[in-house]
Amino acid sequence: MTWGYTDLPLAQADPEIDEIIRRELRREQDNIELIASENFAPLAVLQANGCVMTNKYAEGYPGARYYGGCEFIDQAERLAIARAKALFGAEHANVQPHSGSQANAAVYYAALQVGDPVLSMRLDHGGHLTHGLKVNFSGRNYTFFHYGVSEETGVIDMEDVRAKALECRPKMIVAGASAYPRTIDFPAFRAIADEVGAVLMVDMAHIAGLIAAGEHPSPFPHAQWVTTTTHKTLAGPRGGAVFCTAEDATKLDRAIFPGTQGGPLEHVIAAKAVCFHLATTPEFKDTQRRTVENAKALAEGLVSAGVRLVSGGTDNHLLLVDLSQNDITGLEAQTLLDAAGITANKNGVPGDMRPPTVTSGLRLGSPAMTTRGFGPAEMRAVARIIAEVLLTKPSEKRLEELKAQSRALTAAFPLYPALAG
Ligand SMILES: *Cc1c(COP(=O)(O)O)cnc(C)c1O
Repeated sequence: MTWGYTDLPLAQADPEIDEIIRRELRREQDNIELIASENFAPLAVLQANGCVMTNKYAEGYPGARYYGGCEFIDQAERLAIARAKALFGAEHANVQPHSGSQANAAVYYAALQVGDPVLSMRLDHGGHLTHGLKVNFSGRNYTFFHYGVSEETGVIDMEDVRAKALECRPKMIVAGASAYPRTIDFPAFRAIADEVGAVLMVDMAHIAGLIAAGEHPSPFPHAQWVTTTTHKTLAGPRGGAVFCTAEDATKLDRAIFPGTQGGPLEHVIAAKAVCFHLATTPEFKDTQRRTVENAKALAEGLVSAGVRLVSGGTDNHLLLVDLSQNDITGLEAQTLLDAAGITANKNGVPGDMRPPTVTSGLRLGSPAMTTRGFGPAEMRAVARIIAEVLLTKPSEKRLEELKAQSRALTAAFPLYPALAG
C-alpha cells in the first residue's frame, strides 16, 4: 500500500467491498421493500452521510467544543438543531444520538435514577427493546412495568394504562412503539402521567415523518421528552435525535455528552440537517400522506383476500398480519415472501403462542415503496401476491412466477438511477 491510497476511489481501493455494495444496491432496486422501519434516503442525504465530516472530532456542542477546527462542523450542527426544532415545534433539540437506542438511553439517564419505575408498552404487543427488555440496558438499569393492547381489539386500552400507572406509580411513562398500527393518543397519556406524578416520554421513532407532515398527531407539547430515529419514516440517515423543553435542555445535553456518548458523528449530523430540510418540502408532505394511503390500500387488499390484521387495519404506515389462525408461521411467511421478491419481517402478535424466533405474525410497512413511487394500485397488486403466498404456500415454480410479478412492479419505478446498478 502506498500513500496514494487516500485518493483511490472505492472500486480500486477495495473492489471486494465495492462489489458487495453494488449487490446491495441491486437488491434494493429489485425487491419490494415492506420492512416498516426502513425507507430509501434521498441521494442528497446519502451524499452528506458519506462526506469529509467523518474525519472530524467535535466532542461538545456548537461554540463549546473540546477540539479546534470546528467552525464548519458548528455551522452544520447549528443548522441541524434549528431545522429539527422548527420541523417539530420543539423548544430544544439534540441531534447527536448515534441511534434511536442511544436517544432513549440519554433520556432515561437524564430523567431517571437507576432502579426507578417506568411504565411502557409490552414488547410482545409492539414495544421496543429499549422499553425494558430484560437483557437490554433499559431492563437492567430501570424497573419496567408494561401496558398492552386489548387482545380483542388490538388497540391500546387507556383505562388499562391508567390502572397500571396507578398500581406501579412510575417516574416515567413511555408512549411509542415499533409495531403498532393505530394512532397514539398523546394528550391521554399526558393526563395519566400528570395524575400519577410521572413525566411522559414519547418515542416517535417509527412515526416521526408522519408527525412532521401532520399525518399523525404531534407529541408536542404534551411530552416532556421526545426521542426519534431519523432513518424510518423521516427518510434521513441512520441515527437519532431527542427533543425536550427549554427547562430540561442542559440536563439532556449533558446526558448525551459526556453522559452516554463521546464524539458525535458530524457527517451523519450534516445528513440529518439535509433530512430535516427536505422534510419541510411539499413533496415530503405528499409522500407521507401517500404513505398512509398506501398502507390502507395494502390493508384493504389483504383483508378482502381473507388475511387477518391485528386491529383490523391501520391508521399509519404499518400493518400487522395475524397468522395465528393460519397454517403458516411468521418465519415461513418471511421466507416464502423473500422467494417471491418481497422483503418483510416476521413479528409477534398480541397473545402469540410461538417463540419470537418463529412468531405468528408479519409486519408490513409502506414507507419505502411509497418513497419509490408506488400508489394504491401497486399496493393492491402487492396485496394479491402476499395473500396468495400466505394462504396457499405456493410451490417453488409458482414463487418464481410471483417473483417475476414483483420484479415487474419495481422495474416501473427506478430507484437511485444516478448510482451505477
Ligand atoms: C427503531 C426504534 C428504536 C431504536 O432505533 P435504533 O436506531 O435501531 O437504535 C427505538 N424505539 C422505537 C420505538 C423504534 O421503533
